[in-house]
Amino acid sequence: MSARGGGRQTGVPGAPPPSGRPRVLVLAGGVGAARFLAGLVAVAPAAQLTVIGNTGDDFKVHGLHISPDLDTVSYSLAGLGDWERGWGLRGETWGAAEQFRRLGDDTWFQLGDRDLATHVWRTEQLRRGRPLSEVTRRLAERLGLGITLLPMTDQSVVTRVLTTDGQDLHIQEYLVRDRCQPEIKRIEYRGIERAQPAPGVREAIRSADLVVIAPSNPVISIGPILAVPGLRQELMAAPQVIAVSPIVAGQAVRGPAVPMLQSLGVVPSAAGVAALYADLISDLVMDQRDQELASEVAAQGVRPHLCDTLMVDQAARERLAAAVLAAASVRPVPSLESA
Ligand code: GDP
Ligand code: CA
Repeated sequence: MSARGGGRQTGVPGAPPPSGRPRVLVLAGGVGAARFLAGLVAVAPAAQLTVIGNTGDDFKVHGLHISPDLDTVSYSLAGLGDWERGWGLRGETWGAAEQFRRLGDDTWFQLGDRDLATHVWRTEQLRRGRPLSEVTRRLAERLGLGITLLPMTDQSVVTRVLTTDGQDLHIQEYLVRDRCQPEIKRIEYRGIERAQPAPGVREAIRSADLVVIAPSNPVISIGPILAVPGLRQELMAAPQVIAVSPIVAGQAVRGPAVPMLQSLGVVPSAAGVAALYADLISDLVMDQRDQELASEVAAQGVRPHLCDTLMVDQAARERLAAAVLAAASVRPVPSLESA
């Protein structure tokens, strides 16, 4: 794998944005990304922020199109998210779930009443023939996100988990219904070869001054985005790509990132994350608890930056976002630096 640390390109193709605002692009999954983004919008109000969200988790429940990762990001940035639970809306009620149960429908994928309204609304918009990117743009506008939120693709890509006992599970069946218990043999992004980057995705990468890979699951959140045909090459041409490690002291802060990395033969550690992204990133922001791995990260040609990466509250989310901006050597305007 070729490291980009030494050979970083300088300058952005094309003219700087007319507004002069630095353009920061974040590749995002759900909870880890939402936490990071809540910090980033607070410390870099001058930045023009674009998020490319994973849609490999998208799912149909009760005939409704659910985009869990896009919604986690939207709800958090709209100030509507439930930080305790990590997903869904704050102040949620569960009357519809109770009725679905009475009717004998599956209710293992929990949908609160308010959340349900989002999915009814999205499904209706899609039914009218609007692509997911357009529907997501409208949703972001109506929730007043103040950022550009793009799904990675408008085509259907489904992350499937093939298990050692021969099951072929939708990622949500693995995560939620089966609580990550089945042993993973292989993970597939089904439909990926036919996927095209959603409108605006290539342009967002080409005009980004800085790309950040959020502390999201590398296999099921970031993996599908990087696998959309053409995106990896676009990212390799970006002025600077920085990742934040979702693995702290050999553990995922939450979720199944460890067995998933192992299924790829990647060591579940900050060094493993560096190796997985080494052809894309110049820098890795990793937890200070993993200090002894810094030299291993540097050996992959990736500059390590140590800090406390546990986003336990808003102050911690902002500290992590500030550490990422401080690690960025591409600073098109001073406002990013003063963040
Ligand atoms: P999901 O789609 O909701 O599972 O969300 P993501 O893929 O965005 O986030 C899950 C990943 O975020 C897991 O691998 C976690 O280890 C990581 N994560 C969650 N919270 C934190 C945190 O506070 N710090 C760090 N470094 N990683 C986190
Ligand atoms: Ca997800």
